[in-house]
Amino acid sequence: MAEISGFAAKVRDRLPFTRWSLLRMALSNRSLERTGQVGDGRERALLDYVRAHATEGDPDSVLAVIDDFARNHTILMNVGDEKGLLLDAAIRRADPALLLELGAYVGYSAVRTGRAMPATARLVSVEASAANAEIASAVIAHAGLADRVHVVLGKIGDGGQTVRRLTEEYGFGSGALDFVFIDHLKSAYLPDLNTMLDAGWLHPGTVVVADNVKVPGAPDYRRYMHEREGGSWRTTEHKTHVEYQSLITDLVLESEYLG
Ligand code: MG
Repeated sequence: MAEISGFAAKVRDRLPFTRWSLLRMALSNRSLERTGQVGDGRERALLDYVRAHATEGDPDSVLAVIDDFARNHTILMNVGDEKGLLLDAAIRRADPALLLELGAYVGYSAVRTGRAMPATARLVSVEASAANAEIASAVIAHAGLADRVHVVLGKIGDGGQTVRRLTEEYGFGSGALDFVFIDHLKSAYLPDLNTMLDAGWLHPGTVVVADNVKVPGAPDYRRYMHEREGGSWRTTEHKTHVEYQSLITDLVLESEYLG
């Protein structure tokens, strides 16, 4: 019996399609675009699971519990443990003081970033879904990072409201931003990058990391970086895998702004 279940676990890791929770997520595009959630309550269930199983004030414990939930219970569109190592390394290289994340979802990468960034740094995570913003804030608070990691409900592309709020309430200004992690609506990657450039928030040396450039894909963002390679940007393309499985490949782009 043990051998069969070990084999089953291997098949599941290689072939995530055999998991109902992945199929359910793959079929929920309309719900995801409208509400930012899959539609079966998995994001709220994750928060309950974190509160039940993760040690309060311990980011390591919170991340391990979320990875366990996504790997063994219900898959979540987090950056995950494999791509998360690329994110950690990029943050350490950039040694940032002010960081911005686009797309908090349930707060996994915000906790991951809060753990990797210098102790004096601050992260602001912009999330378009009110339900996700509430869950992410609770997960961040459980990890003990609420004083340095803030979730802002809004969108960079909402016509100026969120940009104004970040400027007035969070000290975003000329050259203020050292690190950006882009992981929200794929069609918004490039327009939101352009809005940040127009606002003057980046400086030579600002590092921008983008998830899911291959799957689901942000081809216009990738093309933009290719066209500007060695000019205004220098990009490293990290070949990796879609979160929580080892079959489908993905790309994470790490781009340094050259000015
Ligand atoms: Mg992602």
